[in-house]
Amino acid sequence: MVNSDIGPFTYRPDAAARRHGPDGYGDYRSYRPWLRDEFSFRCVYCLIRERWGHVTGQFDLDHFVPQVRDPEQPAKYENLIYACHACNLRKGDQNLPDAVLTSENVRVYEDGRIVGLTPDAERTIRLLWLNTPQTIQWRRIWIRNVQLARDYDEEHFRQLMGYPDDLPDLSRLAAPSNSRPDGIQQSCHARRERGELPDTYLY
Ligand SMILES: [Zn+2]
Repeated sequence: MVNSDIGPFTYRPDAAARRHGPDGYGDYRSYRPWLRDEFSFRCVYCLIRERWGHVTGQFDLDHFVPQVRDPEQPAKYENLIYACHACNLRKGDQNLPDAVLTSENVRVYEDGRIVGLTPDAERTIRLLWLNTPQTIQWRRIWIRNVQLARDYDEEHFRQLMGYPDDLPDLSRLAAPSNSRPDGIQQSCHARRERGELPDTYLY
């Protein structure tokens, strides 16, 4: 199984590494543009892409360690995750294992199944219902959609596997502080300005 066959369901090898480090916003929702860029405009759990849906109302900012466990604590960027509404709902107030899903600890198959290679990855997959018959079917349909577009319709392939048009310009966001200012130059918007952003991406 090569990655191009499961194209859109390629998890990142370094899913826990952060490129950006904004801090100090009073409202956690201010982190949204940073998180969109950080997580490549996809749900970190099921990998649904912004380009595949309505976007508005479809993506949440998930508190990885649930807020109910420490409601007094202001939202920290490192604890926020870009996730689709469905995954966020399923996660609810459950604690997930610390190990996020990566290309190292899961396998996705062309028939749509996902298998965890570690007990933590298996648990995450189970808690988020990522391997139910419905989710397997959804994944299989999108794998096939992307394969067909790749083989027969280049422009449609770019639509499915490309970046959204409204890339956030992080250089214009005045975060109260930023522990990783260099990340802004690596953001998708900055790369597009320099003509370095590819037409499509895996992760
Ligand atoms: Zn999701």
